[in-house]
Amino acid sequence: MSEPVALSQGPMFDGVDPPDPKLIDACVHCGFCLTTCPSYRVIGKETDSPRGRIYQMDALNQGQIALSPATVSHFDSCLGCLACVTACPSGVQYDRLIAATRPQIERNYPRSLWDRLYRQFLFTVFPYPGRLRPLLWPLWLYQRMGGKVRAWIRKRLEKVSPRLAAMESLMPPLQPEQLLPKQYPERIPAVGERRFRVGLVLGCVQRLFTPQVNEASIRVLTRNGCEVVIPPAQGCCAALPHHQGQLQQAKTLARQMMDAFAPYEPELDAILINASGCGHTLKEYGHLLGQDPVYKERAARFAAQVKDIQEFLAQVGLTTPLQPLQPEPLVLVYQDACHMLHGQRLSQEPRQLLRQIPGLELRDPVDAALCCGSSGVYNLLQPKVAAELGSQKVQNLLNTGAQGIVSANIGCRLQIQKHLDLQGRQGIPIVHPMELLDRAMSPQPGFQ
Ligand code: SF4
Ligand code: SF4
Repeated sequence: MSEPVALSQGPMFDGVDPPDPKLIDACVHCGFCLTTCPSYRVIGKETDSPRGRIYQMDALNQGQIALSPATVSHFDSCLGCLACVTACPSGVQYDRLIAATRPQIERNYPRSLWDRLYRQFLFTVFPYPGRLRPLLWPLWLYQRMGGKVRAWIRKRLEKVSPRLAAMESLMPPLQPEQLLPKQYPERIPAVGERRFRVGLVLGCVQRLFTPQVNEASIRVLTRNGCEVVIPPAQGCCAALPHHQGQLQQAKTLARQMMDAFAPYEPELDAILINASGCGHTLKEYGHLLGQDPVYKERAARFAAQVKDIQEFLAQVGLTTPLQPLQPEPLVLVYQDACHMLHGQRLSQEPRQLLRQIPGLELRDPVDAALCCGSSGVYNLLQPKVAAELGSQKVQNLLNTGAQGIVSANIGCRLQIQKHLDLQGRQGIPIVHPMELLDRAMSPQPGFQ
């Protein structure tokens, strides 16, 4: 594409992969997507809706507007939840459009020094467990301080920086064993006869904050005839930087992930992931590295092997019998993660698996398809909109009268936990579907 002729003053899109005009033209401006869009629902402006953003992408492509602070704020307010992709009757690929827009902003728009430093901190720490883990020590010590001291610090943070306050309030309570690195065996044999050999992606943030999810996943897989292969060199899947337009970092992490799995790949029946946001990015490797002459074919092959763990188990079936969980009957509400529902189009698989647990009643909340406000690091970057969405989501989940919440994404889990705490409902547990299946397969099945 030729460089746009500047009709407007200020930073512009460059010529490197701008949003595809053909994809932009597919939008017929019908507005069916508007009410499904969480940023539009909270902010209430056309410019913060999918249709409004597509107009702005077009105008940026034509050089009619510049990357001004106002324009950039309308893209920054997008959660990337992809609800508009599900809703659009014309099949507009907003996911491709926003994925092309964000790197343009990161390359061409000069963010403020504080914004740059904050983003740099997020992207140089969170995707690297080896860097994040040492920070858990001061956090653990902080959590040991009295509630009054923490409330005082939180209040000050809210005044100085709502973003830092959001980060503080999202950190889950830490246990001492989480502070030390945990090594999993490279191969964990199937219990009984082996039916499949699967690779497992451990995730980066999840590995540290909710290690019990990976442990439950391994037990569920091995008890259902899977040998589990865990490449020790694996790092972050690239979801965090990918969702925020940090393209070079995302590509580097994706290549590293593929290299870590390469020695094992030929013998694997599938590569599994238990976090929805990561699963969506892993399935996108073919696109992400589509112009990489060395990796593009491998990336497409790798992506084709990736499955969400629930998608895989629903397909191959469970072989270990499930026991009722105590208390019985048990009423839980299922929270759809956006990158599972809209990104991977998986909604029945987790429900179908969980409904196999005897005595379990699964409910759905109002607005089940609306984002909880987590969306990767969105709640750390846009705390106000995220807080509104988190509060609404928790209210809807609680209104079902369920005794607990099931969520298959670490980001959603932390966001929901925060808003349960804020609403004084700390007693309502949140569990991953694998934790539930694990408990239902254990000799003394109990919900908590
Ligand atoms: S993105 Fe789709 S649903 Fe939204 S306005 Fe365009 S055509 Fe209509
Ligand atoms: S991705 Fe989500 S927040 Fe962004 S425009 Fe689409 S529906 Fe709205």
